[in-house]
Amino acid sequence: MTQVVLASNNAKKLAELQRILAPLVPDVQVLGLKDVAEYDEPAETEPTFQGNALIKARACLAATSLPSLADDSGLCVDALNGMPGVLSARWSGVTGAEADSANNALLLSQLSQVPDERRGARFRCAMALCTPDGEEIIEHGEMPGRVLHAERGAGGFGYDPLFAADGHEVSSAELTPEEKDRISHRGEALRRIAPRVAAALT
Ligand code: IMP
Repeated sequence: MTQVVLASNNAKKLAELQRILAPLVPDVQVLGLKDVAEYDEPAETEPTFQGNALIKARACLAATSLPSLADDSGLCVDALNGMPGVLSARWSGVTGAEADSANNALLLSQLSQVPDERRGARFRCAMALCTPDGEEIIEHGEMPGRVLHAERGAGGFGYDPLFAADGHEVSSAELTPEEKDRISHRGEALRRIAPRVAAALT
């Protein structure tokens, strides 16, 4: 069993990552931050997904000496000039268990006057891999779609109930995990980086 650490405390992201990597990287075990010795997580101070993903993966490698993956992702809304973008998790300023619903309520109110044809948006993801050999690899993925007028579905996390991917009537909170993996920004970035993870573990 070979180990890679995902620099995240998000249990749903961890499950997503394990699910997508398992068939691509034989015998991989994806650890989360709860499985490694505690360290101070760095602030996400960069203006880009790529910059923040690298900050997190570098800090994780420095603390664990294991190959370290980190993703940074968010929702970029055309009518908001690409916001909330890197600020997606913190958009409403509310933290903790109420953050997702507060972020969704704020986004809905900001788009309340915006008609269907201008509700285009995309999830973006940058995935960074930092290896003990000093390699730093970045891959990207995106999922284009639109922002709905009301929340739908109970699956997924974050803005999923408000987002319908191109070619879909239902929200990404109504997709099965496997359906979402196939089209998601994180799925795309992970499938791109998986061969590099496999190479780092051999
Ligand atoms: P990160 O953990 O710093 O990458 O922040 C990502 C934030 O973007 C999350 O808290 C969500 O608000 C949003 N986000 C990223 N990916 C997704 C997704 O797949 N579905 C719903 N929201 C997402």
